[in-house]
Amino acid sequence: MQALAERLDAALRGHVLTGWQPLGFAGLKTVVPSPDDAVGHTVTGVGRRGKYLVIGFDDGPRLVVHLSQAGRVDLEAPPKTTRGGKGGVVRLRFDGPDGESAVLLREHGTERKAAWWVLADGDEGPLARLGPESDSDAFAQLVLTGTDRRRIHTLLRDQATVAGIGRGYADDALWRARLSPYATLASLDDDERHRLLDAVRAVLADGLAKERTRAGGLSEPKLGGHFEVHGRPGQPCPTCGTPMRRVSYEAYEVTYCPHCQTDDKVLADRRLSRLVK
Ligand SMILES: [Zn+2]
Repeated sequence: MQALAERLDAALRGHVLTGWQPLGFAGLKTVVPSPDDAVGHTVTGVGRRGKYLVIGFDDGPRLVVHLSQAGRVDLEAPPKTTRGGKGGVVRLRFDGPDGESAVLLREHGTERKAAWWVLADGDEGPLARLGPESDSDAFAQLVLTGTDRRRIHTLLRDQATVAGIGRGYADDALWRARLSPYATLASLDDDERHRLLDAVRAVLADGLAKERTRAGGLSEPKLGGHFEVHGRPGQPCPTCGTPMRRVSYEAYEVTYCPHCQTDDKVLADRRLSRLVK
């Protein structure tokens, strides 16, 4: 999401919003202000907060976009006039020194979770619920001194605790820190806490570096081969070669290395064992 924000910033900063075309029924989560209130205003920058894209305007409202799992952003130069396919959400049209362009927000599949907000000055909207960013001192304090008794995987995915980490990065961070997906923050010693903090920051920095160098458009925020362990059960652990396992947990599948992370123990799949009983 950070790399996407950087690309949009390069493409849109200094450009004027000239109009917007709603393409789907759902998607816009605010009524006031209207997207019309941003029309005619100049983009001052595109940034990221948690998993949200934030488009700032000179003397106008902010536009906030959440892509969810299946949302995509296409940059069109020149703008197209299609409906954006089945999953079209909105097309924002811009005019700048290098001509007209548009940002198409669309969504694969049928979930309809991609959303956008128009926020007046001072209104944080969905951003108000977000915890600190992973590169902040507040997050470092939480990891190094916190007594949270939730599992670390749960804690890392909770956007109100720390913003911007999804299950893929949570899997990879736990693997890199050599911690069990079932470990709790409260149970960690000092060394483990530092390993966890370093691992979270390292996987996010690596992910960003990969996204920045990736060729191609803006449209695929997620990379198939992006993660080292996430989504790779059965493949050899990059560190030790042990086949990695997956365990179902809170409707998620967590991939882990039993040798590096759980002292060669295979974690019980709670969902499955409940069914078997
Ligand atoms: Zn391993």
